[in-house]
Amino acid sequence: MSAPILRGVADLRARTADWKRAGETIGVVPTMGALHDGHLSLVAAARKSCDRVIVTIFVNPKQFNNPDDLKSYPRTEHDDAKKLERFEVDAIFVPDGDEMYPDGFSTTVTVTGLTDVMDGVHRPGHFAGVTTVVAKLFLQTSATDAFFGEKDFQQLQVVRRMAHDLDIPVTVHGCPTIREIDGLAMSSRNLMLSDRARTLAPRLHEEMERIVEGVLKGGDFEGLRTEALTRLQKNGFGDVDYLEMRANDDLCLLKTPERPARLFAAAWLAGVRLIDNIAVEV
Ligand code: AMP
Repeated sequence: MSAPILRGVADLRARTADWKRAGETIGVVPTMGALHDGHLSLVAAARKSCDRVIVTIFVNPKQFNNPDDLKSYPRTEHDDAKKLERFEVDAIFVPDGDEMYPDGFSTTVTVTGLTDVMDGVHRPGHFAGVTTVVAKLFLQTSATDAFFGEKDFQQLQVVRRMAHDLDIPVTVHGCPTIREIDGLAMSSRNLMLSDRARTLAPRLHEEMERIVEGVLKGGDFEGLRTEALTRLQKNGFGDVDYLEMRANDDLCLLKTPERPARLFAAAWLAGVRLIDNIAVEV
């Protein structure tokens, strides 16, 4: 059965009022649409652990630092609703820009520290856009639980920090990255890859695995990293914004995995920015 598509906060609140009165748990899955199996894995996790599930679809202009990127971001609302049918979600919240940011909107939620590295540096203003919209979505949906992908690990940690710091009573769940058969992390942006770029794209994950394997065998991270960068360049990749090993909790830069760590990468391929991260563990 198809779920009701709600476009206004008032309609959304009218639905959640009964659920809250009944003491039901409400899981929210925030997305920008163009849903793929990565998103759907979050919906499945929410369905499994919550009484009610709300999927939100909003291409949030505030988190795009590049207007062309915002313009070309895929929008597939009809297909998205179809893909959600089998999960029997309770509502799909699809606000428009004016509903989220009416005239006079003047508030920004920012997290410091965790946003001073990686995408925080390469996409100025991105995380402030994310935390502002996610704070609003948490409050609009009255979520008790929220489901985010480890694919965007820095975002996951930033959102956790924000919810904790602002005493928003929501449990933030991190879900594993879903990949294509060839290892490429699923992403709505993969739709923008040309056929040729699509065949090259899995190289990023391959090189990351190679570095992690090397590091776990005691290899020198810097040496492994340099070799990987050279091979990526030979295989058609453009700028690599970062390829770094960082601690899971505070995202501090590491040279050896002396505490739980991940390898993080962002790289350009034929005009598309791919990001990925994998755990550095045996
Ligand atoms: P987006 O629509 O790209 O903003 O993503 C919405 C949510 O889906 C975020 O929590 C992402 O981390 C998550 N997500 C995106 N791609 C994947 C993936 N391949 N595996 C798991 N979660 C994902």
